[in-house]
Amino acid sequence: MVWYDEAKYIQDQAKLNNQFFRDSLPMIASENVLSPMCKELLISDFHGRYAEGTPGNRYYEGCEFFDNVERKGIDLAKKLFDCSYADIRPTAGTTANMAILKALIKPGETATVLDLANGAHISFGKWGAAAVRGINLVSYPFNDKEMNIDVDGAVKLIKKVKPTLALNGRSVFLFPSPIREIAEAAHDVGAYLVYDAAHVLGLIAGKQFQDPLREGADVMSGSTHKTFPGPQGGMIVSNHKGETKEDQSFLNRLNFGVFPGVTSSYHLHHVAAKAVALAEHLEYGEAYAKQIIANAQHLGQALHDQGFDVFGENLGFTKSHQILLSVGKGKGREAAKTLEQAGIVTNMNTIPGDTDPLNPSGLRLGTPELTRIGMKKEEMKDVASFYDRVLHKKEDPKKVREDVKRFRADFQEIQYCFKKGFRGYDYHSLI
Ligand SMILES: *Cc1c(COP(=O)(O)O)cnc(C)c1O
Repeated sequence: MVWYDEAKYIQDQAKLNNQFFRDSLPMIASENVLSPMCKELLISDFHGRYAEGTPGNRYYEGCEFFDNVERKGIDLAKKLFDCSYADIRPTAGTTANMAILKALIKPGETATVLDLANGAHISFGKWGAAAVRGINLVSYPFNDKEMNIDVDGAVKLIKKVKPTLALNGRSVFLFPSPIREIAEAAHDVGAYLVYDAAHVLGLIAGKQFQDPLREGADVMSGSTHKTFPGPQGGMIVSNHKGETKEDQSFLNRLNFGVFPGVTSSYHLHHVAAKAVALAEHLEYGEAYAKQIIANAQHLGQALHDQGFDVFGENLGFTKSHQILLSVGKGKGREAAKTLEQAGIVTNMNTIPGDTDPLNPSGLRLGTPELTRIGMKKEEMKDVASFYDRVLHKKEDPKKVREDVKRFRADFQEIQYCFKKGFRGYDYHSLI
């Protein structure tokens, strides 16, 4: 009985967590919520199964129906990204990146990257997957004012160091990357261009951001749970067609990078939910992506109107789902904590000029989840006024929290997904 109580404790925490998020404004730029139909697939029997290999070519029996799922998912991904190659097995964006690194670069070789301090992700950093592969990293110069890669500097750098891979991945991602020029320079020196679309995958799929595969990226990775609102996981797409022997080898290496490279079980229930999310995005992705970006721009304007220091004012604040705020030297952590007490969930973030990642001066905000529960322009003004009350007027966050909860009560249903077809698992209930 003692151990039952421990298990019950875990269940209770999950319920409390559901309640916390139901009453809050979740604004972490990398987070989202699952549609009911996707959620249902996560507790299907696929959860317990193995399917190493590719559809029709398995190491285990019992895969007939999963083969259908994976084949359909690959087709949907190719359609959504208008490309010739898709792999929906990676269990995370990081796993997808590791597979690509395993496939396309050898230990000791050089890749060009963005610095972590300028918004890159750890998987392409010297403490992450790139380090696991033992890659030599060289950083692009960055333009603080435009919050973007210094394109002329990047082209020069690529010509000089002649990397094996030119990597592009950003976790602070306000504006599209200048990859046309970077891809051209990379191809001139025989390098592949890798575009890590973890954050912006759903915006790209919704045709509201740059289109990397048309702008010269050889391969694109992404997380399937950020602006692309599927289950936690990753994917890899490419428009290489394998028409020459060399090109076929490129695709074979990508395939081999995922399995046996970095997966064994690849979480079949997540693959099934990914396939449903791909179908949902084909139907609703364009409208969803449009509204996410419009909301981020409205939020940037509304916060600016409240006197906040919002990045990229002269560039319209953002062209993505993110907003970056400066809240005073080293004050990011305190601001994020106070907002959390008011039921507003964000994260502290370094901004240009910061040197201490543990005491940054900024907040990164995202609109994917608020958009998914139906918020639009008017609500972004309301959201900005909660920030004003907590961070400027210094009202008691517990008091603001009551108002946040009341405000949130009208936004409880997930939009941009199939409303029919799932078999009755309530969005908020545990099972
Ligand atoms: C979030 C992120 C990842 C990692 O994705 P996970 O799915 O969390 O492993 C990789 N690259 C970038 C740029 C990211 O922002």
